Amino acid sequence: MNKKSILLFLAWLFFWNTYGQITSKATALREDIESRIDKIMSTMTLEEKVGQMAQYTLDVIGKGGGLYTSHEPFQIDPAMLDTLIGKYKVGSVLNVSNNRARNTQIWEYTVKTIQEKALKETGIPVIYGIDAIHGATYTAGATFFPQEIGMAATFNPSLMEKGSAVAAYETKASNIGWVFSPTMDLGRDARWSRQWESYGEDVYLNAQMAIASVRGYQGTDKNSIGKNNVAACLKHYMGYGVPVSGKDRTPALIAENELREKYFEPFRAAINAGALSVMVNSGIINNVPTHTDGRLINGWLKEELGFDGVVVTDWADVQNLLSRDRVAADYAEAVKIAINAGIDMVMEPYNLAFCPTLLTLVKKGEVSQARIDDAVRRVLRLKLRLGLFEKPYWSPAEYPNFASPEHIAAAKSAADESITLLKNHESVLPLKNGTRILVAGPNGNSMRTLNGGWSYSWQGEKVEEFAKSYNTIFKALQNKFGKGNVSYEAGVTYKMDGKYDEENAPQIQKAVKAATNVDCIVLCLGENSYCETPGNLEELSLSDNQTDLALALQKTGKPVILILNEGRPRLIRKIEPNSKAVVQIYLPGNYGADALADVLAGEVNPSGRLPYTYPKYEQSLITYDHKPSQNIEGKMEGAYDYGAQTSVQYPFGYGLSYTSFQYSNLTIDKKEFIAGDTVSISIDIKNTGSRVGKESVMLFSSDLSASVTPDVRRLRAFEKINLKPNESKTVIFKLPAHDLAFVNLAGKWTLEKGIFKIQVGDLIQNITCTQTKIWEEPNK
Ligand code: BGC
Repeated sequence: MNKKSILLFLAWLFFWNTYGQITSKATALREDIESRIDKIMSTMTLEEKVGQMAQYTLDVIGKGGGLYTSHEPFQIDPAMLDTLIGKYKVGSVLNVSNNRARNTQIWEYTVKTIQEKALKETGIPVIYGIDAIHGATYTAGATFFPQEIGMAATFNPSLMEKGSAVAAYETKASNIGWVFSPTMDLGRDARWSRQWESYGEDVYLNAQMAIASVRGYQGTDKNSIGKNNVAACLKHYMGYGVPVSGKDRTPALIAENELREKYFEPFRAAINAGALSVMVNSGIINNVPTHTDGRLINGWLKEELGFDGVVVTDWADVQNLLSRDRVAADYAEAVKIAINAGIDMVMEPYNLAFCPTLLTLVKKGEVSQARIDDAVRRVLRLKLRLGLFEKPYWSPAEYPNFASPEHIAAAKSAADESITLLKNHESVLPLKNGTRILVAGPNGNSMRTLNGGWSYSWQGEKVEEFAKSYNTIFKALQNKFGKGNVSYEAGVTYKMDGKYDEENAPQIQKAVKAATNVDCIVLCLGENSYCETPGNLEELSLSDNQTDLALALQKTGKPVILILNEGRPRLIRKIEPNSKAVVQIYLPGNYGADALADVLAGEVNPSGRLPYTYPKYEQSLITYDHKPSQNIEGKMEGAYDYGAQTSVQYPFGYGLSYTSFQYSNLTIDKKEFIAGDTVSISIDIKNTGSRVGKESVMLFSSDLSASVTPDVRRLRAFEKINLKPNESKTVIFKLPAHDLAFVNLAGKWTLEKGIFKIQVGDLIQNITCTQTKIWEEPNK
């Protein structure tokens, strides 16, 4: 043996030894958890087991106000606590009281009071769950990141991981160990009111961001969640984001092959990454309410993937089977169907009939003891993994980095990288120092619109009360360009106590007049905050008032910089042509305006990319991975043209920079490949401009022909790089051949012989698959 081989051998030995130690530690931990579950369950009564499967909202145990609200200041009602925990042995509580964020001291009091009671009554700690959507939503003073749609626009999973790690830490500081996040619904319909809660329309981007988020929340060992980590909950399983009507919680129709290929795939990836729980889609897919869909919950999720975590319902969705979807004649039938479909925990959130109802069902043999035991094992497993038995509550003092400068800097960086420059005519941006600016539009001086829903309150309506210390766009621009240089005249305002889409009588002429002595207008349009069903819309266009305001300001001849601050892409085709620049900021959070000011001043070079297709017309909604017939290039040959055409405002993945990048040397290591191969694709990128800039390098594939009409293109990989002027980098993508497979009409993953076009930037090369492979098992 020469010296090199000896060194290699020693390295190999070291690796296997360390790997062996880690895996045997994990196995021991897992075995320990399972035997602890056996022990706990051996002494539990049926009532206690059923109680573990129930989850109630905090207001139920709040003093005064009945089940739905509580008196202020918030206090727990000992009698109701006794009913919930003493009588029903409830295993989980969620949400905040009175839909209002609380400080960490109130959270400590709340959780500690519940836990002390639970330990006294059952010896089993409660698991507290909360919506922490872009930070610790319901904790006053918490660090808010951009909403998921903006995080997706960064095309930078490491920022997502950091964002979720910060949210985990600050949720832990609030005495809570379980978050209902990340949201993994594909935002493939611009009309849907929750599009901004998603990572946008693409399957791969969604999966990568969700994996990063799970890692940020949970850390690296799902059996031993660390002090600063929480359990994640993937939601909403699955197909929730594409209701036919565009309205929230209405039915979706999804072809079976597409269900597996596009909607299931990201969940599979995030569960393989260790996600500990899943929340079920509140809607109906292919005529089956998902909460009754044993095929998808018991079958695909639990049996196929071996998912050993908790499946929780969405809000009141067992009751909805009865009162909304009418697949159950009474509450008992609804409970029976849902539990037998594989639901482990019911987010009731008010109906105290749940425990007695389930108890009776078990006694009558309509729900088996085995199903109950399985559900309870899962709930206990989650609690043990979280270490709740060892430490059911803690002190905020153990979390000194709550809202620390480091957390704030991370949120600001995420906002920086999310901002997406969509138009920059004649390089009107960046603006020069000392530019005199009129800020106009209803979003110009509002923290509420920067944050959106799930911010201190469900609909975001309480943001102004909690976010006084942060900068609106107007304030941030004053800070950046000088107080005297920046003025504000809204022209259009939202009705703050109305529905999200209500506006006050416009005062457009006031804004026009205010533009007289300025150099440019920063026009901030979009939407007021909303969330879920209350955010349903009737029309995708921007409101008439806002459109009129834009047209009137454009007539002044002053350059209009259009800032879009919106949860979903509202149509702008009437005002886009005469806007000199268009900047999409999505819902960037509390540091979004500072980030925008830095972008407008040129201190931050924009690098966000659209995570969805920006539509141009209401009847031309499309995703980038559409079928060829949805947008035929050119005319059909012959006298008659049947080629549908769909024009969009901006394509998926679009976004400009203040610098320019040149792509060259697309090199692929194999011209031919089969399943099992890894194709290595490399590309050189050079910053050819004069500013440092970040570029998201994206790799797309197109299957040129297949037995099921292929999508025109699919994103298969991406990497964000930073380049100084004149600097070049080589990006190498290792693409497993099975990533090019699709799901055939029999529901099987298939990689078919034939040519695939590979595209990076504007460079294209073809490669050929020489052998068809069909996977017999459900997943590749
Ligand atoms: C939403 C979920 C959320 C749950 C708990 C529901 O209305 O659909 O996303 O996690 O409420 O607040």
